[in-house]
Amino acid sequence: PRRAVPRIVANWKMRGSTAAIDALVDMDRRAVTLPVALAICPPATLIAAARARLAAIAIGAQDVHGAPDGPFTGAISAGLAAEAGATFTIIGHVESRARTHPTPADLAAQIRTALSAGLDVLLCVGDVADLLACLPADTAFRRLSIAYEPPWAIGGADAAPIATISAMHDALRTALATLWGDAADDVPILYGGAVDAGGAAAILAAPQVDGVLIGRASLPAATFAALVDAA
Ligand code: PEP
Repeated sequence: PRRAVPRIVANWKMRGSTAAIDALVDMDRRAVTLPVALAICPPATLIAAARARLAAIAIGAQDVHGAPDGPFTGAISAGLAAEAGATFTIIGHVESRARTHPTPADLAAQIRTALSAGLDVLLCVGDVADLLACLPADTAFRRLSIAYEPPWAIGGADAAPIATISAMHDALRTALATLWGDAADDVPILYGGAVDAGGAAAILAAPQVDGVLIGRASLPAATFAALVDAA
């Protein structure tokens, strides 16, 4: 991997509880000694509790609105997520897209607004065209990471084959290089979609893969711990 330390990002989706955060405290203590960087994206209501209880595990939001504030009932702004303790946010997750149907311009606005509010961005894309459509060329790319998440693998039984993951990561890397040249080498590219304890190590062993985005295997804490240990 280009990154010395692979990243494991747990997307809790609409699941979890303060008890689930408490169940991570042991792993948080171990996290400083692990050869991986851990992060969780709990529901927005749990970000502050996660920030209060966890130190080594990074905290992210699952989505933020493209406007800094305004009449958007039910939405979360990047500033609110940052104030609650998030240091990054997922943008463009396929499950968020299914609810809000963002255009590429909407996603670009979300990226800009998140970065302006001080959040790093983990942008989920399904392919190269998706990446190039929504990524503003002037993005502060040092605070960006990408997750290749084939929509058919998310929530599915099987992760994408390693050869598919490697090929798509190479294609995404090449596309990033058209925007930013060699500096694009520093943008981490994660894989997400049906990663579990059994499959994580092989996926992370692919040289193109800088980390994994985990959905279902994020919870409960014992399941996540098994995945982290396997990785
Ligand atoms: C996800 O939500 O990003 C994801 C990869 O889900 P799952 O691991 O459950 O397929």
